[in-house]
Amino acid sequence: MDKRIIFATNNQGKVKEIKMLLEDTGYDVLSLKDAGIEAEIVEDGKTFKENAIIKARTIMELTNDIVLADDSGLEVDYLNKEPGIYSARYLGEDTPYEVKNQYIINKLEQAEGSQRNARFVCAIACVLPDGTTITTQETMEGEIARESEGENGFGYDPIFYIPKFQCTNAQLTLDQKNKISHRGKALKAMEEKLKEIL
Ligand code: IMP
Repeated sequence: MDKRIIFATNNQGKVKEIKMLLEDTGYDVLSLKDAGIEAEIVEDGKTFKENAIIKARTIMELTNDIVLADDSGLEVDYLNKEPGIYSARYLGEDTPYEVKNQYIINKLEQAEGSQRNARFVCAIACVLPDGTTITTQETMEGEIARESEGENGFGYDPIFYIPKFQCTNAQLTLDQKNKISHRGKALKAMEEKLKEIL
């Protein structure tokens, strides 16, 4: 039987990243589409970790494969950690990010110094056919910029300023971002854990 891992997403960018990271394990990494799976997953967890586990477990129960899933988002301290787990749905799923980003900038008009602190969070879960569940979670710390800058990346990247690099996430190359990002670090940590058991 083929050794395979399903990554519970249809985002080919994420699958590409994971494939690269798990190259040495000899496992084939498939997206939901690659595996021919169509599933409606209700993400009703209260944390990033809970949502990642819900996604991975739902697909494992359908396929009996090893399944990986991630959940991520932006926490803004001044907004009581909003949009958090609702990052994709914030102000409406189909609302353009220019609008979401400008809304956050406006909300933080009076915020100064550390009040502008924010972080990206990424939780990754792996559920094995015997139910064993492994999770990792990492963050990327930064600040909300006073204006949008940069063309790279996606989502909230243009308003996420990283003091260490003196630019926004959207001004980093993908390679630079992957090395320091919440997702890159959480994937790396998961890779270490999986290498021990696979
Ligand atoms: P999901 O984990 O694919 O559900 O994504 C959650 C949401 O968080 C995305 O739709 C973005 O709004 C936001 N997000 C997560 N990671 C990033 C990132 O690296 N840059 C910008 N926005 C992000």
